[in-house]
Amino acid sequence: MNIAIIGAGFTGLTAAYDLLKKGHTVTVFERDSKPGGLAIGYKEKEWGWTLEAFYHHWFTNDKAVLDLAKELNYPVIIKRPKTSSLIDNEIFQLDSPTTILTFPKLSLFERIRMAGALALLRYNPYWKPLEKYTAASILPKAMGEKPYRILWEPLLRNKFGSFTPDISLAWFWARVTKRTPSLAYPEGGFLRFVEALAHTVEKNGGKIIYNADIEQLTSGDEKVDLGKHGTFDKVIVTLPSFAFLKIAPSLPDDYKKSLIKLQGIGAVVVVMRLKEPFFADNTYWLNVCDTKAPVLAIVEHTNFMDKKHYNNEHLIYLGNYLPKEHKYFSLTAEELLKEFDPLLSKINPTYKKSLIGVTKFSVPFAQPIIPINYSKDVPSFDTPLPNVYLANMQQVYPWDRGTNYAVELGEKISHHITETP
Ligand SMILES: Cc1cc2nc3c(=O)[nH]c(=O)nc-3n(C[C@H](O)[C@H](O)[C@H](O)COP(=O)(O)OP(=O)(O)OC[C@H]3O[C@@H](n4cnc5c(N)ncnc54)[C@H](O)[C@@H]3O)c2cc1C
Repeated sequence: MNIAIIGAGFTGLTAAYDLLKKGHTVTVFERDSKPGGLAIGYKEKEWGWTLEAFYHHWFTNDKAVLDLAKELNYPVIIKRPKTSSLIDNEIFQLDSPTTILTFPKLSLFERIRMAGALALLRYNPYWKPLEKYTAASILPKAMGEKPYRILWEPLLRNKFGSFTPDISLAWFWARVTKRTPSLAYPEGGFLRFVEALAHTVEKNGGKIIYNADIEQLTSGDEKVDLGKHGTFDKVIVTLPSFAFLKIAPSLPDDYKKSLIKLQGIGAVVVVMRLKEPFFADNTYWLNVCDTKAPVLAIVEHTNFMDKKHYNNEHLIYLGNYLPKEHKYFSLTAEELLKEFDPLLSKINPTYKKSLIGVTKFSVPFAQPIIPINYSKDVPSFDTPLPNVYLANMQQVYPWDRGTNYAVELGEKISHHITETP
């Protein structure tokens, strides 16, 4: 079959890799000049390694992507960096049963109850019965009101804003279940890894056409037409659902409504380059447990990967998930830094003296909103258009979006279009 794939992110490239193994002809169209999609990276000229526009790591149980790395013979680094939380202007390491059980802001009883509730959730293999409850209705009852208000509610609110009361307990379950204390990272950065995947696709006979923005697809009974880009037997769309609707105006109204219903939230991230470390305590990931704070997470990447790969600079992400109408989307990196400065100066009063530069990245759709009973709404691979298939991060449920699930999705869609009649 002659198959087109729209999007050279992890889903599109894995599908291409798999379909080529099965002997099909594959062309990938990517609007950007580089592969990677949401996991795309960039490189300042002084750096040896690339850095992700948005902070990325793998969990050590991210089997699909780690297996792919093994298959590509791509080196992966595993480390156990420190995760902490900022509570009432104080930083607490909170990344193990011991640190949770000694957390001084809660009584011993509250700590044991919270640890017990999290352990029950983590080791419960059945997510389906959980999906009919919201996280906000069950967590305070299960772990206790105070632990929820201090630690978990601010994280949910900072991530999901006004959607917080709707978020499913199954989403929270997936987050707690998947987390591993050690994390993995591809040598050279995610861009280098996805470039290696793209090169393998090309070596195996696939075509990847960059700077190719697919504006419209039309589907006849036999072929799918991508205008000046040609006609194909089958087309896999790996774009977010709202972007699929834009390029396929002939989709029927009820299907369009079912996709429009699936909401998402965007992300605005500033990468700060410093000559000196930002955190005094070697924290990699800081959750900001304060709903009034201007950032949700501060991630010192070089407390995970060695600064020697980045010309000895200290690289810090200042991250936010926000609806695409939020004013942060239209501010420059420098303007955003001004907004964040009161918080940053409280943590490190001298950071500005060692500032080399800031860069901003934003994306309108970064995280699907997962409400209760989402399993009924997950779109299927088949679409109403013959020979047009959808594979995107709204389908990896009950898991949260991630490159591991994009790899799994790429493999599944390849199987679906080749093995089902
Ligand atoms: C802030 C943030 C943090 C994250 N952290 C992690 C993490 O730590 N670990 C992890 O594994 N994952 C993480 N993720 C999630 C991960 O990046 C995604 O789940 C994954 O990259 C999705 O891959 P995809 O191929 O399905 O989609 P995408 O990456 O969205 O790929 C779609 C591709 O289609 C292209 N495209 C769009 N429109 C067109 C068009 N009309 N024509 C042609 N091409 C088009 C896009 O340019 C893009 O390359 C994070 C994401 C964000 C935003």
